[in-house]
Amino acid sequence: MNAKDHELSGITLDPDDWSELRTMGHRMLDDMFEYIEHVRERPVWQPIPQAARERFNADLPREPSEIGEAYDEFSRFVAPYTSGNVHPGFMGWVHGGGTAVGMLAEMLAAGLNANLGGRDQMPIEVERQIVEWARQMFRFPAGSSGVFITGTSAANLLAVLIARTAVLGTEVRKEGVIAKGGVLRAYTSADAHICVGQAMDISGLGSAALRRIPVDADHRMDLTALQNAIAQDRAKGATPFLVVGTAGTVDTGAIDNLSALADLCAREKLRFHVDGAFGALTVLSPALAPLVDGIERADSIAFDFHKWAQVPYDAGFLLARDGELHRQTFASPAAYLRRETRGLAGGSPWPSEYGPDLSRGFRALKTWFTLKTYGTDRIGAVIARTCELARYLERRVLAEPRLELLAPVPLNIVCFRYRADDAVNARIVADLHESGIAAPSTTTIHGKLAIRAALVNHRIQTCDIDALVDAVLRFGGKP
Ligand SMILES: *Cc1c(COP(=O)(O)O)cnc(C)c1O
Repeated sequence: MNAKDHELSGITLDPDDWSELRTMGHRMLDDMFEYIEHVRERPVWQPIPQAARERFNADLPREPSEIGEAYDEFSRFVAPYTSGNVHPGFMGWVHGGGTAVGMLAEMLAAGLNANLGGRDQMPIEVERQIVEWARQMFRFPAGSSGVFITGTSAANLLAVLIARTAVLGTEVRKEGVIAKGGVLRAYTSADAHICVGQAMDISGLGSAALRRIPVDADHRMDLTALQNAIAQDRAKGATPFLVVGTAGTVDTGAIDNLSALADLCAREKLRFHVDGAFGALTVLSPALAPLVDGIERADSIAFDFHKWAQVPYDAGFLLARDGELHRQTFASPAAYLRRETRGLAGGSPWPSEYGPDLSRGFRALKTWFTLKTYGTDRIGAVIARTCELARYLERRVLAEPRLELLAPVPLNIVCFRYRADDAVNARIVADLHESGIAAPSTTTIHGKLAIRAALVNHRIQTCDIDALVDAVLRFGGKP
């Protein structure tokens, strides 16, 4: 090595001393096992001290520092102040709890640093394996396609774009919706997730082109109202094209009558998409699967492995019945992405042809490790158990005169309140968060502020439910 080479070789980012880094890595791994194993002993959430925020308001680091220094900052100022979804007291929104197995898989994926946009490599076969497993879970036909994406919000957007291509043809990709369009209309329930409207907005169809259909007493889309809205739109010259059913609404866990929606879509010649962000995975529990009967007839299903399947964030997924239509919605020829029949540039079709991303991470690996290590029966059993815990919470609420149940509990979400006004209930939830005992969220049911507990985390036990109820009563009774 001449002097110049020697100087340049110092510019790589590999360590001078691998054994030192190895020791550091083992310590980090041990610490994270410790963190997960003893998560219950810490508060679910705690307010962030100003000093922690200030640490992350530093100037751009021009000079290197020791990894130990960075790790120390992480340990002191980041790890203690997360949203707490690893903790069994976390019951807010809909968050998965993650697993140590998923954490290890993430480490392996980062080591390979695989880019799953395309090319002939085994990591893509792992993703194809998950596509096949998803196809089997939902009894979709051969020729179905699937793709990992950030989350269900993005997967719903892909589904809207596929439905648009189905009705307007692939020329819409060039000509745009305005040139091709006419007036398209989509339908979903009033309780559907806000991202369905956002998908219409981002796709250029407009959020106003989404009709929000009222729900019945069980928070399911009212089928007569849906039928009427479609007829009215047709009478006005608009083109109904898509119905988005929900398997597990965020507010109450309600599941639309998916079989009836599938029948209606077949009759009316509409596309049928299911937002099954968390609820779709009830197919893994024999006891719960009948709740989502009809999901196997959808044109596409969006769901998250990062919620009820406990895969670490993020691992959203779209499954589509017509794989060729799916590909034609996103595939773009480009010289620098030329496909070959031999060598590394083979392996067509590439995952990047099924969505907007070219560079893509190895989300499939943590999902593969999770499904393979636990088996889908066990994951289904965890899902069923969180629903049983929800019924336990429901019973506790019904047995307590100071509490009021605000919505039916079909799945894993319980909406209730302390019998007092909205301000008191909002205060109770903030007190719960700051106490570190439990972290439910809130929603509004029939105009009333509800304390909303969504039981998703696989670590939740009855004692966590008891701690929630006892604390609500205690904080509610506070002057
Ligand atoms: C969580 C959720 C979404 C959004 O999914 P992300 O993974 O957060 O993008 C959409 N719909 C429903 C019903 C959800 O529960």
